[in-house]
Amino acid sequence: MALRIHNTLTGTADELVPGGARRERIEDYPPVTIYSCGPTVYGYAHIGNFRTFIFNDFLRRYLKFRGYRIDHAMNITDVDDKTIAGATEEGITLAEYTGRYTAIFLEDLKTLNIEPVEHMPKATESIEAMIDIIQRLREKGIVYNKEGSLYFSIARFENYGKLSRLDTREIKTGLRYDTDSYEKDDVRDFALWKVEKEGETSWETPFGRGRPGWHIECSAMIRRIFGTTIDIHTGGVDLIFPHHENEIAQSEAAYGEQFVRHWIHVEHLLVNGSKMSKSLGNFYTLRDLLEKGYSPRSIRYLLISAHYRKQLNFTLEGIGQADQALERIDNLIVRLNDIRKDGRPGPNLQKMVDSLLLGFAEAVDDDLNISKGLGVFFEFIHALNTLISNDRLNRPDADLAMEALVKIDAVLGVIFFKTTAKSDIDPAWVDSMIAERIAARKDRNFKRADEIRTILTEKGIILEDTKEGTRWKTKG
Ligand code: AMP
Ligand code: ZN
Repeated sequence: MALRIHNTLTGTADELVPGGARRERIEDYPPVTIYSCGPTVYGYAHIGNFRTFIFNDFLRRYLKFRGYRIDHAMNITDVDDKTIAGATEEGITLAEYTGRYTAIFLEDLKTLNIEPVEHMPKATESIEAMIDIIQRLREKGIVYNKEGSLYFSIARFENYGKLSRLDTREIKTGLRYDTDSYEKDDVRDFALWKVEKEGETSWETPFGRGRPGWHIECSAMIRRIFGTTIDIHTGGVDLIFPHHENEIAQSEAAYGEQFVRHWIHVEHLLVNGSKMSKSLGNFYTLRDLLEKGYSPRSIRYLLISAHYRKQLNFTLEGIGQADQALERIDNLIVRLNDIRKDGRPGPNLQKMVDSLLLGFAEAVDDDLNISKGLGVFFEFIHALNTLISNDRLNRPDADLAMEALVKIDAVLGVIFFKTTAKSDIDPAWVDSMIAERIAARKDRNFKRADEIRTILTEKGIILEDTKEGTRWKTKG
């Protein structure tokens, strides 16, 4: 039985072969190297973003369940057009601005029971690695300079377009191009390095002061952390073109070796048929939903339970259905805990547990088909309930069943959910509410701004608007 996952690069469900050479046993493989494009920290991530981040978490948990070792990085994009614009607008430094939203993001990950990854690099900490790539590309004659900014000339990279397999005509005629910047020779090209602009954060380099383009950041962080070809790169489908196409072009042109073996892309979370996105304004942040009283556990369940290559339409009813599924599991746990009957573990139950774990793995090995895996899991729950109703389970059997739930939950992270509900005031949460209030006032949404003040007042938090910004303190 082998784990096969759809690979955007080949268009087929490919066997996972960490390190690129097939081994006899899973434990003989080197750790699976994974890179996931992380958030751009210029605001709250919405739950569409969290669909992708929860998928990344599910992927790493499942690989561990199957016995693989993991070496996983997810970056924080802390310099780009949007973060710079946000910091400038508020009149604070880029680091202060991105620091605030990074803290909020980390808190949200915890709330959703997303495991910490092995590396969480920030783009601004990898400038040296970016310089290295750009210098190599310059030596190879792939870069041109236009008014101080450096561009990658895609006409000089033969394999451009191999990931997205976009109609080459579309790329060639500039019908599809990177909208990141316009001052280039050819619309198809993309900025590697942007010349310094008055008042913007910039870095000194052998090719002048400036700041990185977005795409170079991920290529640089991957090089710095992993050094060479990595096994898996993930992101939402919107990143296939141009972001991932450009990452491949830069890295493969600079180092002359394969960049990534396996590309995995997550389909979008939709709202009424359109992608949930900040620009469309049709999004919920995690905190929006928590404030409405939905639990992070149900949100996680909803987002994890759909197959990653299928679009998922988000509705509040969907969270209700997730609640019901979780209730079935919780009820079973209550019943298992109540079993007192003595005895020896029966062979039946061991068989049931074995076939649960095998059936679950078989289902999920097939392109991470979690929906099918959950089907197998709920059959197990149904069978257990029948046994309990017929009084055919003793205490050791119940313990065995609980152990099986723990094993499945190592992948799902929804059953023994550590609640992170705060009894006391969490400063990161208060800061995030204040940030939202500032944004609401800027948008002249005074109703929302007042609402936030009321929510905070109810929790005993007093706001003071000063020239230096908004301060807060607790009553008494
Ligand atoms: P961003 O912060 O915009 O760079 O996005 C972070 C991650 O969320 C990327 O991997 C995106 O592809 C992904 N993403 C953005 N919108 C959605 C959505 N509606 N559904 C699923 N993933 C999304
Ligand atoms: Zn990226």
